[in-house]
Amino acid sequence: MESGDTRGPTGLYFILNGSKRGLRKQLTILGSTGSIGKQALEVVRNHPERFGVEVLTAQNSCDKLIEQAIEFQPNAVVIGNPDCYPRLRDGLSKHPIKVFAGEDAISQIVDMEGVDIILNALVGYAGMIPTYTAVSAGKIVALANKESLVIAGELIIAEALKTQAGIIPVDSEHSAVFQCLVGEDSKSVEKIYLTASGGPFRGKSRSMLEQSGIQDALNHPNWSMGDKITIDSATMMNKGLEVIEAHWLFGLAPEQIDVIVHPQSVIHSMVQFTDGSIKAQLGVPDMRLPILYAFGFPDRIPADIPRLDFSIYPNLTFEQPDYELFPNLPLAYQALKAAGNAPCVLNAANEVAVHAFLNKRLPFLGIAAVVEKCLELIPHMLKPGLKDYISTHHQTTEKANQIISEQLWKS
Ligand code: MG
Repeated sequence: MESGDTRGPTGLYFILNGSKRGLRKQLTILGSTGSIGKQALEVVRNHPERFGVEVLTAQNSCDKLIEQAIEFQPNAVVIGNPDCYPRLRDGLSKHPIKVFAGEDAISQIVDMEGVDIILNALVGYAGMIPTYTAVSAGKIVALANKESLVIAGELIIAEALKTQAGIIPVDSEHSAVFQCLVGEDSKSVEKIYLTASGGPFRGKSRSMLEQSGIQDALNHPNWSMGDKITIDSATMMNKGLEVIEAHWLFGLAPEQIDVIVHPQSVIHSMVQFTDGSIKAQLGVPDMRLPILYAFGFPDRIPADIPRLDFSIYPNLTFEQPDYELFPNLPLAYQALKAAGNAPCVLNAANEVAVHAFLNKRLPFLGIAAVVEKCLELIPHMLKPGLKDYISTHHQTTEKANQIISEQLWKS
């Protein structure tokens, strides 16, 4: 199998060239009732002179969306689940806010006029088409949905280059790399280090992982996040997805992206340059920081987010990831090198497996086994188009469910 296109400019660099300072920005927040969405609205609440809300969207959390809309008075709100429409419409009937419903409406709303930045804080595959649509319309996307680039990075970056759309990372590691890259020539980058906390199972044995239940896996040491990403952190698939995300954002070859376990989560990632210098970005583990940086870029906006107290962290430590205990990480590198639809297969299999684990249909160690089986069984395709990614996702979802219900992952 041949490797994907690994070099050259990315969607990111247009932002470096094109952004203006000091603007008040209007935001669309996709997934405003989730963990990132709520923290993004906190950033808006604390900086009303810099940010306003144009659109809010949610999937099912109708009451939370009503509450947010009443506070932030957006131009429009969208609820993904059409059954929630009457309740949302009635809840906002006294306000001059447009109300839409349905999955398609979420994708369509992203090319609305008068929006400066679209924050994509959707979870999983659901975020991919909205990112693609926004990038196709030449918008600036603050990307918290890493799966967009994992699934269809090749297509989305090609589209961003065509339309001069911008993609600003919100994922804390990628925000760190981005902050280290400001003012640098992309040709001077030798490699990057993505830091990983190691999650709740760092240093544990395989037999301990065999016994692990949902509460153990959801008990992340440093970050407070949604369920999907917390399980992905416990399996280290989150880091695997981030390697693929970094590949597309920064135009780096797989060999230029290293993962290093750093249990304190104080260094959010590092860039090593061709002269041997390394730049790191540090801070308390608080998602409001990368969100604020993405919204404010190229300005750095003063904020009262807690400061890092070095006396609390007398030791910053580093170790190699355990590839045997966490096979998802090598599987992600394997999918990235295979390119084409392989990362899409990896992601879809993982989404199904994590869902099955959360519903007690699959043990913890079965998650990586399902991903590995799907990578083996789903036909490989180079240069997929949007329709191919969609069909690969659905084909893999079906296959992964079959593998779980027939327990084929055990063989
Ligand atoms: Mg991250």
